[in-house]
This record gives sequence, structure tokens and C-alpha cells, in this order.
Amino acid sequence: MSKVWINGEIVDKDQAVISVYDKGVLYGDGCFEGIRAYNGRLFKIKSHLKRLYESASSIHLEPPCSIDEFEQAIRDTLAASGLTNAYIRPVFTRGPGTLGLNPFLCKKPTAFAIVDTIQIYPPELYASGMPVIIAALARIPIQCLDPAVKSCNYMNNILAKIEAVNAGVLEAIMLNTEGYVSECTGDNIFAIKDGRIFTPHTEAGILHGITRRFVMEQLAPALGHTVEERMFKTEELLSADEVFLTGTAAEVIGVNRINDTVIGSGIVGPITASIATEFRKIVSDNAPED
Ligand code: PMP
Repeated sequence: MSKVWINGEIVDKDQAVISVYDKGVLYGDGCFEGIRAYNGRLFKIKSHLKRLYESASSIHLEPPCSIDEFEQAIRDTLAASGLTNAYIRPVFTRGPGTLGLNPFLCKKPTAFAIVDTIQIYPPELYASGMPVIIAALARIPIQCLDPAVKSCNYMNNILAKIEAVNAGVLEAIMLNTEGYVSECTGDNIFAIKDGRIFTPHTEAGILHGITRRFVMEQLAPALGHTVEERMFKTEELLSADEVFLTGTAAEVIGVNRINDTVIGSGIVGPITASIATEFRKIVSDNAPED
């Protein structure tokens, strides 16, 4: 059953409410994370909480509790939920205040963590590969709002997601304002050509994904591959042998078509399949928490 920790209390879903004056609601003034639990273990929770506190610092938000206290709150809420496989959504908002933007008029940030489950893509797409589009909308540039900050302002991503859904698919690849591939609306992207794996450099303007890092530093090397971080454009992506996406919610999913271009032979390629299998094995056996 889902449970929510909110400002120090664990409550049921319908009791987890915040004010309409909360700046998180009024302006998307806040930051968040997404963490998965596998067999009771919180995958990379230390990295997720570190990124959450870095996001908070980037938006000049002082969390109302320490990182250790928040981690304990998440563990307690997971235990209260009775779930062992779960998706956790920790959020800090600026908190309630008066109307107007000035964040420093808010006295106390709001903190909550939802423990629930998630399935963003249908299971059959993990076997067949997933069609995606390239969004017309560009990813917001680092100079405007660095995508490395996981802020509650996801409108750039949501508008691209709407393009995807309107095109009959579930995810969109976003290019940065210079035309380089950056990331998807809620996942990072990797491509493979002639056995070489590459992924957009963080300078393309991306969320520094924790699943992305896990693939780069652990899964790919364990399978004898290295991953190159570099800038590349659409043409290279469309001529790749394999493309796959990574994210906490998405996990590892192959892409079989981008716009009208079939990727590779239109099925999940062998390197993607081996990475996805290795991912599943590690997280279900003994998911690393740091
Ligand atoms: N990019 C964006 C925009 C995201 O929202 C996410 C999901 N958090 C990711 C990439 C993947 O990051 P992670 O692996 O840390 O979940």
C-alpha cells in the first residue's frame, strides 16, 4: 500500500496534502528525486539523496532535515508501506508563502516522500524495443536552467512528452539548442555503433542520471565495454546499430525506431539486451545502495 512521509509524519495517500499557497504548486519552486527499491534495498539511495541536496542547494533551498534524517524517513516509510519493490518520490518545495515569486518570504520548506509503485512503459516494450520520436522542442539550455538540477519545473520535458504522445509513442529524444542530442523527457540515452557505446556528454545539458552512471561505470565495464561521453547529432543517432534509454523509472529499455527510422534490425540489439539483463540481475540479487 502506498504511504507518504510528509513534514515528519507517515500518512496514507489521501491524507498527504499541501497548501495551494505552496510555491511548489504555484511556481514549480522545488526539487525532487525518483528512487527505486528492489527486494527491500534502496538502489543508489546515497547518490539520489546527494543529487537531491545538490539540486536544493542550486535553487537556494535549505532542506528542513538533514540527508541522514531524510534517508531514515524514507526507510521508515518504505517499511510502513509493506512494499519491497517500490518507487519513491522525495520532494522539497519552497513551502507555503504569499503570492509572488520571492522565495525568501517562505518560512518553511515542505518536504515529502511518496512510496508507491511505477510502470512508465508497458512490459512488452522491454522485449520488443520502444519507438520514440525526436521532439521539435529543444531541451532547456544549461545557461537558462541547468537540466542537471532536478527541479520541479518539468514543463520543458512535459511539452516534449506531449509531442511524443501526439505522435503515438511514449518518449521523445530532445536536442539541445545547438542541435546536439541531449536526453529524453525522463531518461538518458545511449547509442552503439560497431560495438562502441556512446552517450551525450553532460555539456549537452542533461540530468546526470544515476542509472546512466551505473551503466557507464559498472554494467558496461563488467561486460567488457567502455562508454564514451561525447557530443553527437541526430544523423549519428539514426545510423546507430542500437539505441537504449536509462532511468530510475524506465530502467534499461531498447529503442527500435526513431521517427520513421528503424534502429539496427528493429529489435532489441545484443549489447542492449546484455546490459538490461545484467541490470536486472544486479538489482534483484543485491541492489547497491551507494
Ligand atoms: N533525464 C531526465 C530528464 C529524468 O527526469 C531522468 C529521471 N530521473 C533521467 C534522465 C534518468 O535519471 P536517473 O537514472 O537518475 O533516474
